[in-house]
Amino acid sequence: MEMPRPDDRILSRKVDLVDRLVRLVGRGAVIDDPAAIRAYECDALTAYRCPPLCVVLPETTEAVAAVLHLCHEERVPVVPRGSGTSLSGGALPTADCVLLGLARMNRVLEIDTVNRFVRVEAGLTNLAVTRAVEEAGFFYAPDPSSQLACAIGGNVAMNSGGAHCLKYGVTTNNLMGVRMVLMDGTVVDLGGPVFDAGGLDLLAVVCGSEGQLGVVTEATLRILPRAEDARPVLIAFSSNEVAGACVSDIIRAGVLPVAIEFMDRPCIAACEAFAQAGYPECEALLIVEVEGSPAEIDDQLTRIRSIAARHDPVEFRAARDADEAARIWLGRKSAFGAMGQINDYLCLDGTIPVSELSAVLAGISTLAKDAGLQVANVFHAGDGNMHPLILYDANSPGELEKAERLGADILRLCVAAGGCLTGEHGVGVEKRDLMEVQFSAEDIEAQMRVKDVFDPHWLLNPAKVFPLGASRARRIA
Ligand SMILES: Cc1cc2nc3c(=O)[nH]c(=O)nc-3n(C[C@H](O)[C@H](O)[C@H](O)COP(=O)(O)OP(=O)(O)OC[C@H]3O[C@@H](n4cnc5c(N)ncnc54)[C@H](O)[C@@H]3O)c2cc1C
Repeated sequence: MEMPRPDDRILSRKVDLVDRLVRLVGRGAVIDDPAAIRAYECDALTAYRCPPLCVVLPETTEAVAAVLHLCHEERVPVVPRGSGTSLSGGALPTADCVLLGLARMNRVLEIDTVNRFVRVEAGLTNLAVTRAVEEAGFFYAPDPSSQLACAIGGNVAMNSGGAHCLKYGVTTNNLMGVRMVLMDGTVVDLGGPVFDAGGLDLLAVVCGSEGQLGVVTEATLRILPRAEDARPVLIAFSSNEVAGACVSDIIRAGVLPVAIEFMDRPCIAACEAFAQAGYPECEALLIVEVEGSPAEIDDQLTRIRSIAARHDPVEFRAARDADEAARIWLGRKSAFGAMGQINDYLCLDGTIPVSELSAVLAGISTLAKDAGLQVANVFHAGDGNMHPLILYDANSPGELEKAERLGADILRLCVAAGGCLTGEHGVGVEKRDLMEVQFSAEDIEAQMRVKDVFDPHWLLNPAKVFPLGASRARRIA
């Protein structure tokens, strides 16, 4: 993958820039030692690495504003970073950038259970939001599998989803407001703790903008009352396609579980070895979770059992207790890590209409066979958000490129099926040159004009999201 050539004028001024940054935020908040910087050279798309010019770890919105103002004046690119769990290279630095890490901004600022919101700093982890409100009987719904590590600022930037988003929606459906710093250092507040704010819905533009428009320093999030009870059920099938057809039928019947997750045989084996969750022996497995009162749970399970029966399941088993339920979810949420212990892989993130699940799963296995590579599937099936994991050997020359070519073909298949290039992991560097598969030149130009408004010099998170040639031409020195 091509990265932009670093600006030699910036590289030659490193000492002076670091000195000025230290004066703004203090020595303890700036890392310029080449060995220490290496911790920030990549995110979870580890195939690509590039140490930044230096790292700044501010603790306040004012410090973020001061750093951005300086970088704007000096025309130095800035890459915002939460916890670095992006799977699309969204937080990959360039050699001439200041990497702005938000991890030290991790306080809970306000909890309001009457108006049902929580206001937090951007570096707080996703899981810590729920932890902060669970004693009061509430939770924060979007739950990426990386929720122990990933930060709310990163979730906002990527419009992150998770297993339980089928019923409650993704980040954009649970985000009420942000405080954000523009590239020139201006601080803006968008939305807020009431249900609707006046003016244009700029919050919806910012959510999912992948750090292109501003640096989020605070977020106001909707919290929901916890259901009385919840129960996952395991439904095992003899093929991927049959499991896919069952998902479509559950949704078609108007049943709305909290989650419908899919795993195929290679993923079931990896997760079972990791979590001893008691997954059945089968080709494809659905984890379907329903919630409510005991009567509501029984009613939904009865309906789901009768729909599943039409697809001749190998097994249908509801979790017997909270411990078994926790192990079922531990296995699913550890899928990427468990797979990574066995094999190198490229994790894709295409979204398709749920009605196309069966056909696209069959298409993926044909493409994989033709490419001579193995693909494992684990994904949020209820909302059609697929995560084919392309297994390859990173030590074998040419294998990564081969895996990337297969990945591009699978994403083209998703778009052709009426879906899109990304459900929740973002475009980042990984899919920027595939944008033309989904968008016309006019569409891309319109999106770039939005960036022009927020960041006229194209300094924020360079070389991401837009095709490299197009964004390089836009950069104003
Ligand atoms: C094992 C594993 C499982 C995962 N499971 C899921 C899943 O189920 N659902 C899902 O949606 N994702 C998942 N992800 C992907 C990833 O966790 C999400 O994209 C997450 O939101 C990234 O958060 P982060 O704090 O790590 O952001 P980073 O990786 O640090 O950054 C991600 C992007 O956000 C930008 N950014 C970060 N902070 C800010 C800020 N404060 N202001 C502006 N821009 C900012 C960065 O520039 C970058 O473009 C998974 C990743 C891993 C490794």
